[in-house]
Amino acid sequence: MTSASSPFDVAVIGGGIIGSAAAYFLLKEDPSLAVCVIEPDPTYEFASALRASGGCRVQFTRPENIEMSKFSIDFIKGFESTMATTGRPAPVDWVEGGYLFIVPPENAASLERNVRIQQSHGCVVNLLSPSELKAKFPSMNVDALGAGAHTPHDGWCDPNGLLWGFRRKAVELGATYIQARFESAEAGATNVKAIVLDSGQRIEATSFVNAAGAWSGEVAERFGMPLPVVPMRRFEHYFTAGSPIEPLPYVKDVARLAFRSEGKGFSGGLVDGSAQRGFNFDVDHDYFENVVWPAVAHRFPAFEAAKCHRTWSGLYEVNELDGNPVIGAWSSGLPNLYTVAGFSGHGMMHAPAAGRGIAELIVHGEYRSIDLARLGYERIEAATPYAEQGIL
Ligand SMILES: Cc1cc2nc3c(=O)[nH]c(=O)nc-3n(C[C@H](O)[C@H](O)[C@H](O)COP(=O)(O)OP(=O)(O)OC[C@H]3O[C@@H](n4cnc5c(N)ncnc54)[C@H](O)[C@@H]3O)c2cc1C
Repeated sequence: MTSASSPFDVAVIGGGIIGSAAAYFLLKEDPSLAVCVIEPDPTYEFASALRASGGCRVQFTRPENIEMSKFSIDFIKGFESTMATTGRPAPVDWVEGGYLFIVPPENAASLERNVRIQQSHGCVVNLLSPSELKAKFPSMNVDALGAGAHTPHDGWCDPNGLLWGFRRKAVELGATYIQARFESAEAGATNVKAIVLDSGQRIEATSFVNAAGAWSGEVAERFGMPLPVVPMRRFEHYFTAGSPIEPLPYVKDVARLAFRSEGKGFSGGLVDGSAQRGFNFDVDHDYFENVVWPAVAHRFPAFEAAKCHRTWSGLYEVNELDGNPVIGAWSSGLPNLYTVAGFSGHGMMHAPAAGRGIAELIVHGEYRSIDLARLGYERIEAATPYAEQGIL
């Protein structure tokens, strides 16, 4: 905790990967800003970022998400040097292992449509028939598959390195991290004046940013702002195959099986989108055997003898309206309150672009690089979903 005192230009609530990226880009956009980040837990024990599997891909359908991925993946590839602080590199262990979406015949046409959209944004995406899939990934059982989409320049990185790289660099540029929890807001009719922390400290600022991830719905409520972002438990497993198998890209299917190579084994899971919402970190140690193993062993028989070595749980910050993030100001309520939350499981990979976007909006009053206006809060108020097509 530092002793810098308010007023600040910007107070960011939540110092996870999104809040730290926002702080960094705010100071890049305008080095003269006084920026503080309110983060209660410097160990990030429950933060989603440190429980993420690190995947980064361009396989989306909304132009905003594709463009955010393109910028973010490039940024992550150069992160180690770009984000080095004095005398200290910022490694993120980027692995260009590729992504592979696989779908049954009834989804092949929509996968092809999605591939064309990504290609129109300049992405390298190869549409593969079942026999081409078999030739490229010999261990795959391609029965009942219609097509696959392979993006060889996608990959994965170390979320811990990414979070701490942003945080350290933001601090080097002048950000103040305050170790406390946001508790309440002091707001007038048209703007937020200050926030109060559990330490009793009162923070005045010109702008406030809600970057509290799975906690952002709760945070918004304390400003009187309805935000449909809720926590949803998701399991991640580290497992080994049991039989020899070639290194695999990040494989995803329509049932939301998602896994990738990790060292000598594999990391991944099968997302249960209907999981009960709430702050629940309990681990179901039978989930791998009952749900993940049958799916993975069916698609890759080499996993028949798979062994799960570890299961952990983390929270997706689900935007219940459409599964896409909310990025922007609460223009009709408290216009100096900004939100960057609700990435619904894509927040690590989009942190660089989302951080830059919110920084542009706060500093310049408009987007200067990627136009993220359609991801604004206005669609929540109008109850108009802006969802992805196909695999989430
Ligand atoms: C198992 C799993 C796998 C995932 N895999 C991927 C992946 O492959 N690729 C990908 O892009 N994403 C993935 N994600 C999603 C990704 O982790 C999140 O989208 C991302 O971490 C969101 O970042 P954040 O900063 O918003 O949230 P967090 O990292 O959770 O940070 C939020 C911070 O807010 C703080 N906070 C909470 N309440 C308050 C308060 N009242 N006051 C101040 N601060 C507060 C918390 O302490 C926390 O540090 C995965 C998530 C899980 C759980």
